[in-house]
Amino acid sequence: MSMKKRVTVLGSTGSIGVNSISVIDSLGEEFELVSVSGHGQWQLLAQQARKYNLEKVVITDTRNLANLEKELEGTDTEVLGGPEHLVDLAVDSDCDILIVAIVGSAGLPAVLGATKAGKTIAIANKESLVVAGCLLMPLAQKHGATILPIDSEHSAILQAMQSGQRNEVEKIIITCSGGPFRNADDAQIACATLEDALNHPTWNMGPKITIDSATLMNKALEIIEARWLFDLEPGQIEVLVHPESIIHSLVEFCDGSVIAQMSLPDMRLPIQYALTWPHRRPCPASRLNLHELGHLTFEPPDKNRFPALKLGYEVAHKAGTAGAVLNGANEACVEAFRKRQISFTQIVEFTDICLSEHNFIEKPDLEQLMQSENWARQKVLELVSSVQKNPDKMKNSPQSTSY
Ligand code: NAD
Ligand code: MG
Repeated sequence: MSMKKRVTVLGSTGSIGVNSISVIDSLGEEFELVSVSGHGQWQLLAQQARKYNLEKVVITDTRNLANLEKELEGTDTEVLGGPEHLVDLAVDSDCDILIVAIVGSAGLPAVLGATKAGKTIAIANKESLVVAGCLLMPLAQKHGATILPIDSEHSAILQAMQSGQRNEVEKIIITCSGGPFRNADDAQIACATLEDALNHPTWNMGPKITIDSATLMNKALEIIEARWLFDLEPGQIEVLVHPESIIHSLVEFCDGSVIAQMSLPDMRLPIQYALTWPHRRPCPASRLNLHELGHLTFEPPDKNRFPALKLGYEVAHKAGTAGAVLNGANEACVEAFRKRQISFTQIVEFTDICLSEHNFIEKPDLEQLMQSENWARQKVLELVSSVQKNPDKMKNSPQSTSY
């Protein structure tokens, strides 16, 4: 068996995907990119396939399959179209480490497949854990799969946890930049536009997580993600606003010692740690200069201005189908907000309505999780269409205030 680690990147055309490939490149001979997937962006997929002489490329949105096939004609790369092939890549015997950089619960079937195949999974796709963490973590244990976080906060927690034994951990503190509306008042948040929400102060990311960072739903998802990844009680998880995004999270041990992981905000570091874990390698990301920074600041989060946080704790407590409903509703709301069909505050409002109206199941199977998620998406579509029929209901919408 070769010592080379063969890596497959699902969602290779996105922000995490592109950074992952650059990390694999900079790590050199020890790692090899074997296969990738992307949803649209067939030109970028073709470029990646040629540059790395890839075994397989999956394009999940089949509208561009023919273009991709034509572009890769005569190469050794096998081109596959459709989301069903994500699982093929995930369980392929040619894959030692699977990076899941797909956005949304579209990544779940591949994560589940790789888990059942006992793979090492570097997971950026937090939505999978939010929807199905209750099934994934026991499955990982059963099949000997290793799930490693790419999310910077969870990578920080994993790193800090190496300072003690698991049963010596008292609590974790997840940091949060506060997003673009950290200092905005209720009135400003109520009329936030899509452009305002997409303007993140410290991180440059894909559009969905950028909007989640503005509502602080991203932090809600991360509370739930941490609950499953590290098997914590929700009461052991705190959120701390830290606008500079230098401390990525902290672990407090039973003796009162608090261990923090610090670095400049650059996703290449947590991606690399997931690949080289439990070892470290030199990383091209810029180094931290505390002297230059001078000081770091912290504030408590404001659950009134950012009600998504309350939903995060509620769902972390309830578990069961609640995560699937939260995620399905949020994904559908973010999509509607991006189409300017609902206002910024309606994202969390509608998600809250879905959570309170759904038929909760405490110990769901996969089928029931999927049904709950789909129910929430449908419910959001109904809420959106009732807003469209009755524009007064969209009282806070960016469109109506600017007329
Ligand atoms: P992105 O929008 O830049 O990229 C998303 C990727 O998923 C693309 O390759 C796209 O082609 C693919 N994709 C989109 N819809 C798909 C579908 N229906 N089926 C299959 N593939 C699909 O997003 P991103 O910012 O790279 O985020 C990816 C994931 O990583 C998200 O879960 C996000 O929460 C998480 N994450 C991102 C960052 C970051 O810095 N960008 C940090 C932490 C966690
Ligand atoms: Mg994060």
